[in-house]
Amino acid sequence: MAVIEIKNVAKTFGAYTALHDINLTIADQEFMVLLGASGCGKTTLLRIIAGLETASTGEVWIGGRRVDHLAPKDRGIAMVFQNYAVFPHLTVFENIGFGLRMQKLPNDEVRRRVERTAGLMQIDQLLKRYSGELSGGQRQRVAVARALAMEPDVILMDEPLSNLDALLRMEMRAELKGVLAESNTTAIYVTHDQVEAMSMADRISVMHKGEIVQAATPLEVYRNPAAEFVAGFIGNPPMNFLPATSQGGGKWAVAGELFDGPDRSAPLKFAIRPEDLRPAEQGLTATAKVIEPLGAHLLVTCEIDGEIFRAILDSDMTVRPGDRITLAPQPDRIRWFDPETTLSAV
Ligand code: ATP
Repeated sequence: MAVIEIKNVAKTFGAYTALHDINLTIADQEFMVLLGASGCGKTTLLRIIAGLETASTGEVWIGGRRVDHLAPKDRGIAMVFQNYAVFPHLTVFENIGFGLRMQKLPNDEVRRRVERTAGLMQIDQLLKRYSGELSGGQRQRVAVARALAMEPDVILMDEPLSNLDALLRMEMRAELKGVLAESNTTAIYVTHDQVEAMSMADRISVMHKGEIVQAATPLEVYRNPAAEFVAGFIGNPPMNFLPATSQGGGKWAVAGELFDGPDRSAPLKFAIRPEDLRPAEQGLTATAKVIEPLGAHLLVTCEIDGEIFRAILDSDMTVRPGDRITLAPQPDRIRWFDPETTLSAV
């Protein structure tokens, strides 16, 4: 059992606070993605869990054991980095077996584990090749196989696919998820790529300015963002926002239309995803500005009361720049945010 518990972890570098009081529990065998923009602190958090960085305050527990005072090698973890240090002058076999040799495991155990993980990563044909002769994708597989060969309770990965081209990334992300699910390992995976996060994670921790803003399943993060930041960060294009004024009794005026919302009087922001809008007789009146045919659908960038507002519509719709269109939001997909706190108002 390798539950990971991060308790009140903070990290400062001089006067700069990179992490504020992080609390997070990752379940045994869970695949947790840390997602956020550059500089939000995700790598720092991963390095603290690994023991490559010391927390300023707080505790890290793995499998019910406090580990933050232990050396990285004693934490039962294996890591895969972006620049996956695969040694070019060693064969694939010796690269995968590197950590096992360091642990002084007997030769036949090294062979068993190397062959098993090479099989899992589908590089068993390459074992005798020198790693310097491999393609980027093959080297990436070697790096993952080396981590898996350690049979760790926990695997930590920092942007492991970022050096690969788009097609290979897509293939590897599916394979990696499959292999990790089979290996019963608890995984933490750092990325700034929301597609990668959505497609691989059991849960996503969305990070912003050294804090975890929301930790939830990909669908929950997408459908019910806990804060405006999440709504604007996840989804491409992101959620639309419009100011809303209370009419009392849970009725809200948004760009001259009435909607049902929370029963309160302070102003809110109305939010809707671009794909949750349909052309209709009644709804929000928008002026189309830019029309982008994307094959499967049409991305229409409009303006409503001077605010940018995007709609994803059927590709066979005819819209021209300057057209007035009426867009009806799907009622159960409307979300509300408090402009004071920026948090979800429901
Ligand atoms: P990226 O995706 O760019 O790697 P990140 O979210 O992983 O970003 P971190 O690498 O964790 O971000 O860095 C968080 C913040 O802490 C950044 O502002 C960074 O400049 C700062 N930081 C990280 N390491 C150090 C250090 N050793 N000394 C000083 N500041 C640091």
